[in-house]
Amino acid sequence: MSDVLNVEELFGSNVFTLGTMKVRLPRNVYKEVRKVIEQGGELSREAADVVAKAMKDWAVEKGATHYTHWFQPLTGITAEKHDAFVTHPDEEGKMLLEFSGKELIKGEPDASSFPSGGLRATFEARGYTAWDITSPAFIKEDATGKILCIPTAFCSYKGEALDKKTPLLRSMEALSTQALRIVKLFGNTGASRVIASVGPEQEYFLVDHEKYMKREDLIFSGRTLFGAPAPKGQELEDHYFGTIRERIGAYMKDLNVELWKLGVSAKTQHNEVAPAQHELAPIYETANIAVDHNQLVMETMKKVAGRHGMNCLLHEKPFAGVNGSGKHNNWSLGTDNGVNLLDPGETPNENIQFLLVLACIIKAVDTHADLLRQSAADVGNDHRLGANEAPPAIISVFLGEQLEDVVRQLVETGEAATCLEGGKLETGVSTLPDFEKDATDRNRTSPFAFTGNKFEFRMVGSADSIGSPNTTLNAIVAEAFCEAADVLEKAEDFELAVHDLIKEYMTKHQRIIFNGDGYSDEWVEEAKRRGLPNIKSMVEAVDTLTTAKSVKLFEKFGIFTRAELESREEVLYETYAKSINIEALTMVDMANKQYIPAIMKYTKTLADTVLAVKEAGADASVQTELLQEISAKLSEAKKAVKNLEAAIAEAAALAGDARRQAFFFHDTVMTAMEALRAPIDHMEMVVDKDAWPVPSYGDLIFEV
Ligand code: ADP
Ligand code: MG
Repeated sequence: MSDVLNVEELFGSNVFTLGTMKVRLPRNVYKEVRKVIEQGGELSREAADVVAKAMKDWAVEKGATHYTHWFQPLTGITAEKHDAFVTHPDEEGKMLLEFSGKELIKGEPDASSFPSGGLRATFEARGYTAWDITSPAFIKEDATGKILCIPTAFCSYKGEALDKKTPLLRSMEALSTQALRIVKLFGNTGASRVIASVGPEQEYFLVDHEKYMKREDLIFSGRTLFGAPAPKGQELEDHYFGTIRERIGAYMKDLNVELWKLGVSAKTQHNEVAPAQHELAPIYETANIAVDHNQLVMETMKKVAGRHGMNCLLHEKPFAGVNGSGKHNNWSLGTDNGVNLLDPGETPNENIQFLLVLACIIKAVDTHADLLRQSAADVGNDHRLGANEAPPAIISVFLGEQLEDVVRQLVETGEAATCLEGGKLETGVSTLPDFEKDATDRNRTSPFAFTGNKFEFRMVGSADSIGSPNTTLNAIVAEAFCEAADVLEKAEDFELAVHDLIKEYMTKHQRIIFNGDGYSDEWVEEAKRRGLPNIKSMVEAVDTLTTAKSVKLFEKFGIFTRAELESREEVLYETYAKSINIEALTMVDMANKQYIPAIMKYTKTLADTVLAVKEAGADASVQTELLQEISAKLSEAKKAVKNLEAAIAEAAALAGDARRQAFFFHDTVMTAMEALRAPIDHMEMVVDKDAWPVPSYGDLIFEV
């Protein structure tokens, strides 16, 4: 076998693509499939049977033995239950593999154990999975064999969404409908859909598996709950874009191959800011597929790490004191006849459609900053957002110099007569070319930044599904488009009305625009003066889902009912409480069974040394001092364990009131956890390394 990778052949080889369908399906069925994908509606039962058979034949030829409805419950990860293609053997004992249209379209997993936030009472535990024809089926290969995975939505018996995909699909439809009204007003009558596109950049850490296995905290909670800083951190900035080490390079190569086979267009790879931190970005695609693919990226990252004797950490903050991981959710809008609505063109000041779209987005983000913040909240992300790390918890919009200037002119005079140009970038070296500069520079500190022809939502957590952020983005922008279209469709003088509307929106919502340093303390103050919300934690963000404003928005566009929103709140509180409970129990366990015994042993050695040195007639003051220091910290740690145990017990007693319990975990249990971590981390810095029971930060992030 040659070791030349044929990427063209490899790409999508495990996907039941449109291309494959075109070859394998009768013409009329293929056409019907395309029509449903593009225009919505349902596939006829006859067509579904034909597709199912073709899909099964294709999968079986590739070695698949099972199929599964692959879905995304509110756990934030994916779920699957495998069914073999086997059927009753015939009289002669021969087996015919089968897969019907009915099995393709609908599934009924025993779903009573997925979080539903009360939507599904136990007496009504039915949950259904329904084929999402817009996301292609694929074959997953692992130790289980080869499994045909059918992307599905997951709903209750009454049709309430129990997953991340259903609301996303609803939001995409709402956005398309409203955006079409806007583009039609500008004369684009050829467009029949407007599609939200998404390209998520995924950050991750890699650690050595053997070391990982020695850290209960990594195993149970995905982050280190203890750990003193290594002497070196990321201050030299020598990791970012640095040369990729061999072991990591081999991993990335394998990861790309696996992703390409699944039809994920993994595009860029590089080392990130923190040691042992890396990033992968795919090429953008339709929001729905991007969400599915991001799940596959996360899953494949973990799987491939195992093959290379490593573990992939997707937690937002695996290590204190070095950068955490996020997901930059690049989002844009395009018509099906090829117009990117966020492309400003050469002279944005003259591009009225672009200015209206921009004004609507600014309005949407300002009106629903709280919801957008909520959509990026998860347990791990609390360690980034609002915790002195990038990006801040305050939502603002970065436009760049050129657009900011256009907005300023519009607000001040109602006209944007001029437009700053990018100009030339002169390298000053005669053999190097001079470039045309982009008109927008980068601002890495903004949570919502315009980057040329898309917005980059940088708040999303690395471990989280990008379903919710994109559902929210689509929904809030759909609302703004709808309100604009309501006015403009009735206007007698369209040009005048657009002009007035752009000015009105930009004037009213300019407070959300901020081009400065989003990490500075001054911004926190300034944002407060501007009246922008600063929601510091996940639990504080939950309530935003059921404000009158939010319910009105989501119900109007059929994205969530009030009951669905309430159920999601319940799930979020529960998820938070359960996660922190696991972390707290892990800390108690590690303290009681690893740290405290190891330190006691060490103090015994120290005490013996003190005695021996004294007996030998020498000065034992250094040893004595160290012994005293460690003994004091040890007793502090022991007390802190007791406190933490008490807090955990108190929290447990609050079961039944999810909100109160979640807040208790946030306010009281987390504080008790910090109080335990401090003395242990202190001791790690003074105790003999050989006596320390677990690998250090240095071992974990510098010796991968
Ligand atoms: P950077 O780190 O400089 O922002 P990357 O190449 O790491 O750039 O990531 C940029 C991401 O933005 C990619 O995933 C890319 O596919 C995505 N992207 C580019 N254009 C669009 C678009 N029109 N809609 C959505 N995402 C886009
Ligand atoms: Mg990037």
